[in-house]
Amino acid sequence: DRATVLIVGAGPAGLVLGNLLRANGIDTLILERGSRERVQTRARAGFLGANSARVLTEHGLAAGMLRSGQSHDTCAFRDAEGEFELNYGELGRGEVHTVYPQQHLVTDLIAEYLHRGGRIRFDVTVTEIDAATATVRHNGGESRGRFVVGCDGSNGVSRRALPADLATRHARDHGIAWLAVLTEAPQSMTAVTYALHDNGFAGHMARSPQVTRYYLQVCADDDPAAWPDERIWSELAIRMRVDRFGPLREGPVTERRMVRLRSDVVDPMQHGRLFLAGDAASLISPSAAKGANLAIMQAEVLARALTDAVTREDEAALRAYSRTCLPRIWRAQEFSHWMITLLHGPAAAEPDAGFQRVLRRARLSSLRDSRSHQDFFAENYVGI
Ligand code: FAD
Repeated sequence: DRATVLIVGAGPAGLVLGNLLRANGIDTLILERGSRERVQTRARAGFLGANSARVLTEHGLAAGMLRSGQSHDTCAFRDAEGEFELNYGELGRGEVHTVYPQQHLVTDLIAEYLHRGGRIRFDVTVTEIDAATATVRHNGGESRGRFVVGCDGSNGVSRRALPADLATRHARDHGIAWLAVLTEAPQSMTAVTYALHDNGFAGHMARSPQVTRYYLQVCADDDPAAWPDERIWSELAIRMRVDRFGPLREGPVTERRMVRLRSDVVDPMQHGRLFLAGDAASLISPSAAKGANLAIMQAEVLARALTDAVTREDEAALRAYSRTCLPRIWRAQEFSHWMITLLHGPAAAEPDAGFQRVLRRARLSSLRDSRSHQDFFAENYVGI
């Protein structure tokens, strides 16, 4: 089984890459562990930044997003002192988000990839990658390529194929967990809303007219089963301060899962004939909704570099791949980290918890009152 470019994983990174390579006539094979049904129904991200919308539009991948994505330009912050909104569409570079659920994007990308003549094999689990020979072993045997791209997420095998003495993994566990829930309920507010509360953070994010995502900061060892619908809605009501800002529009909770806030960056993101993209290269906490956007950014950079290598035998851009992407990844990590420090208070046991709590208030009031801070926020919130 051979292909010019073997791609491991059919998430946003692998599928955008596959589509861009097919548009340039490059022979590709995607190997995906899950079934087609599984990957097309896995609800995760929703907020696509301006660069992602551009990549999808320029490369003919945006039909579904343009048809049913919703444009979002405002977010709101609530705490004990009140609420303020930031219309980030009119701040910074004037960019907005397009909200389009990740599983819908993945569904569109698979259909278009097949339409472009791409090959994909579902239910194939890759167990080993040889970066020197671009050979991939899996439960169906062996596949060989000229290049292999690992787009298999943060727990995939491609990371392990980077030699430990050449690649450094910079990692941080933020010690914070969210209960991520999907509800069959329309949005309660028009804006993405971040609520800061002594009980912990709560977030409200649109997904589609019928579906809304909420996040609740919980103890890391909490069991999602300990959070029945009533408990979720009553805790959301407290943290969202519905007594002051109005009720939430409730509906059945259709999914609840724990998300541990972790971040890491692999440097370099390549070795030999192997290149990493998306969560495989860098996991980012969901606090600023950057993961899928970084994946799409890297897929575009890598598609260009692989196209140069395959069509012109020019590997300069491939050699520079990590150097090109890492500064943008770290900027996103920095912003995401700042968001974490804004949204979450210190643990009560921390010796300087009081100091940190007041710092956090100062952080929020700077964002509320300073136009230049707001411009900086907007630029980083929507941009990569
Ligand atoms: P993935 O989407 O994880 O895809 C990897 C694929 O590789 C999977 O299909 C997997 O089955 C396959 N695979 C793994 N191992 C193997 C193997 N051994 N062999 C074959 N196949 C394999 N990001 C945003 O930008 N905006 C948001 O609003 C946002 N919200 C989020 C909310 C939640 C609750 C979560 C969990 C994440 C969120 N993210 C968000 C992050 C975003 O979902 C990820 O960053 C994104 O999915 C990364 O894409 P990827 O293609 O790199 O990896």
